Amino acid sequence: MRVLIINSGSSSIKFRLYDMEQETLLASGALERIGEVNTRSIYREYTASGNMQEQIAHSPVTDHTAGLKQIVAFLQSSDGSTHSRKSDSMKSLHAIGHRVVHGGETFQAPALIDEGVIEGIREMIPLAPLHNPANLAGIEAMRRLCPQLPQVAVFDTAFFRTLPPHAYRYALPNELYHRHHVRRYGFHGTSHQHAAGQAADYLQQPLKKLRLITLHLGNGASAAAIRDGICIDTSMGMTPLEGLIMGTRCGDLDPSVHFYLARTLGMEFDKIETLLNHDSGMKGLCGVNDMREVHRLASEGNEQARLAIDMYCYRISKYVGAYCVTLGGLDALVFTAGIGENDSFIRQSVCNRLSVLGILLDHKRNQSGASGAFDISSERSKVKVLVVPANEELEIAYQTVSAINR
Ligand code: AMP
Repeated sequence: MRVLIINSGSSSIKFRLYDMEQETLLASGALERIGEVNTRSIYREYTASGNMQEQIAHSPVTDHTAGLKQIVAFLQSSDGSTHSRKSDSMKSLHAIGHRVVHGGETFQAPALIDEGVIEGIREMIPLAPLHNPANLAGIEAMRRLCPQLPQVAVFDTAFFRTLPPHAYRYALPNELYHRHHVRRYGFHGTSHQHAAGQAADYLQQPLKKLRLITLHLGNGASAAAIRDGICIDTSMGMTPLEGLIMGTRCGDLDPSVHFYLARTLGMEFDKIETLLNHDSGMKGLCGVNDMREVHRLASEGNEQARLAIDMYCYRISKYVGAYCVTLGGLDALVFTAGIGENDSFIRQSVCNRLSVLGILLDHKRNQSGASGAFDISSERSKVKVLVVPANEELEIAYQTVSAINR
């Protein structure tokens, strides 16, 4: 069964084509800066011998429909090579899975897309004005291009449907929740779900018997507390702004900062939103958001970068401490995504603050850079510490297949 995964953002589209029988990636790519004159298009094709061929082009792509047309044309194309496994993929495609950021309380599981589902995603736009319109643009364009194929929406929020009210409610007047849906929803759900499943597989224990904290540390970052396979708390809130410090997002902040910025600095509402989402976090603290760059600055003696790293790790350790209480103990701490998988310094610095909980790293294992899932805890650690590769797209593909089978 072949499944195409589409992740449609405001100015980008990422895609992956999987063969689900063997769980192999056949093709992938991304269009970046859609709507600008210098759109960058990257197409990758994976051959049976394990090689990857890449094409990169720079030419304007006006909108999501034009971008998806190009992607479909790429998937249909064939260079006649017997090595190409993606040839004629559109003919043998079974389904399309779309990442949708906000499903609100309406969508608690992947949904087979029809007019009602599209309307439901549209209704969530006030809760995710930066994401859901772009997700919808991808869905609508793909339905026009491939009307014969089943398409599934997989929601970032759905994994958090099990959060108890004491974790998801804000201490605001009841009406704001009941009439206006102001509550915590959580994001990166497919990544946390995938990381938890991989951790259980690695530990060879049933997920239903584990207490896990998963740390998705990429450009966006979030933590999740998972007990017996059920998520019971997470760091992101009504939007992906709450919680950990991120590349450009501030994470937790006293709400009064907004009033202060508006009253004292005369900042408008949209400016504050941009400031907190795009100019804060590591970028706000030291000028760069890529963690490799932050380390480079710190190694050159830049005090702001050093403080930024300190604040980043401190915030994570506070959440881990709190979630140990939430879970009533901890079996494994799981690092995933760009920073979680690659940055041994950040892992060490987070875990150094957690030794009081019996969380101890093995320095050599932590720096081994092994591939796949690996254990970095010391023999003396009371808690396993694992690194697992993030693969949100593969998780979306699994969920697409299971929604269709259902
Ligand atoms: P993601 O959003 O999962 O793609 O992760 C992006 C983040 O991962 C960026 O901040 C990168 O700097 C960081 N990252 C990727 N590779 C490394 C690495 N080898 N060491 C440190 N950070 C990395």
